[in-house]
Amino acid sequence: MSANTFAPVYQPDNGKLLQPLDHGEHIAVIGAGAFGGWTALWLLRKGFKVTLIDSWGPGNSRSSSGDETRVIRSTYGANRLYFDMNEQAYAHWLQHESRVGRKLLYNTGVLWLCYTPDTPLVDDSIPFAREHGRKFQYLDSAELTKHYRVLGTTGLHHGWFDPKGGYLLAREATASVCEQFIQEGGTFLRTEAIPGHYHSGRLSELELSKGYALKANAFVFACGAWLGNIFPELNNWITCTRQEVFYFGVPAQHTDAFESFPVWIDVDGKDFYYGIPANRYRGFKIGVDIRGPQFDPSADNRLPDPDVLQGVRHFLSIRFPLLANAPLLESRVCPYENSPDGNFLLDQHPAWENVLLLGGGSGHGFKHAPVVGELAADVLAGQRAIPQCFLLKNRV
Ligand SMILES: Cc1cc2nc3c(=O)[nH]c(=O)nc-3n(C[C@H](O)[C@H](O)[C@H](O)COP(=O)(O)OP(=O)(O)OC[C@H]3O[C@@H](n4cnc5c(N)ncnc54)[C@H](O)[C@@H]3O)c2cc1C
Repeated sequence: MSANTFAPVYQPDNGKLLQPLDHGEHIAVIGAGAFGGWTALWLLRKGFKVTLIDSWGPGNSRSSSGDETRVIRSTYGANRLYFDMNEQAYAHWLQHESRVGRKLLYNTGVLWLCYTPDTPLVDDSIPFAREHGRKFQYLDSAELTKHYRVLGTTGLHHGWFDPKGGYLLAREATASVCEQFIQEGGTFLRTEAIPGHYHSGRLSELELSKGYALKANAFVFACGAWLGNIFPELNNWITCTRQEVFYFGVPAQHTDAFESFPVWIDVDGKDFYYGIPANRYRGFKIGVDIRGPQFDPSADNRLPDPDVLQGVRHFLSIRFPLLANAPLLESRVCPYENSPDGNFLLDQHPAWENVLLLGGGSGHGFKHAPVVGELAADVLAGQRAIPQCFLLKNRV
């Protein structure tokens, strides 16, 4: 398992600039998940006429944005792009919160659990945080035990606590972006859409499962794990893997200790277990980042895999011993939408110049969605270039 969920490689560059669309032109955005929802909202605010489309609705249970919560963190090793993107995204989420009048971001801080003296994934981001006036707290094994009495420190060398970060209410936040889009004058359609008629290198309309066609000047396909199905010509460029998360019930007498525990990430270099203890009363959430088998996000059943659950229980018995025999309250199977190198995908379709492909969140996209959406809107308005690392070519 590559660590690209945590720190994809990035080289600053000139990027790719597109011909700007004219003000007021009609853009159809297919997929109202985190990426599509924010893109549609920013496009609307730029004065375009926007139709946002989703088969099952924003933050639906099949989608990657449809789980209860998602981690927000800026630590990305030496990757400056994602560090800066997260800093900007954090500010956008707070602005959105105040605009919609709902708390969506919980700043619990993020505790990185490190096994070796040098952990570049964290160490290399600390200078970036320092530039933002932020100090990470170093905790040796004894201090970890003193600060976090429910934590088992077997095998750990030290911890780093980043005071900025925590979790977002994922499906609620995704739905609130779509509601805000509609409130600001956008059109939302709940229907499935596939590319329809095209002519001389341009797509002219979508075929909708509602039984009619929708014309537009440009199209953004932000279809997450479905992108590979909709565009087989991309040769499985975006792969959909089965990722599991579990919600355990904590012992009543320890509720406060778990509810006040920060978001944590176990940097073992292999499984990368991570968790959101508080998780808005849904139970102690734990996920495993190692890639699961490929699956069909539309049709496959989503029952937990007993082997994955057994691995999680073994990990809990070491890292959170009080939860070794905790009751499993809920589980989720969600699709990772993996790009080949973990960098996001933002590029024109190879055959249709007025089609933008947006996705490849690769297990770390949710937090960045406000900034990814803003970039996609600026790109369509010809106001910003697409970073090379997001383009389709020379990444396979
Ligand atoms: C288990 C798990 C844990 C994760 N943890 C984190 C985390 O802690 N932090 C983080 O930042 N990121 C995390 N991620 C990644 C993050 O959730 C995704 O990168 C992000 O949600 C992707 O958003 P999206 O809009 O691209 O895709 P989605 O949310 O999947 O949205 C795509 C939408 O397209 C719609 N659609 C598809 N095909 C069609 C069609 N033909 N017509 C109409 N609509 C269509 C679907 O219904 C769906 O709503 C995690 C992902 C998983 C699976």
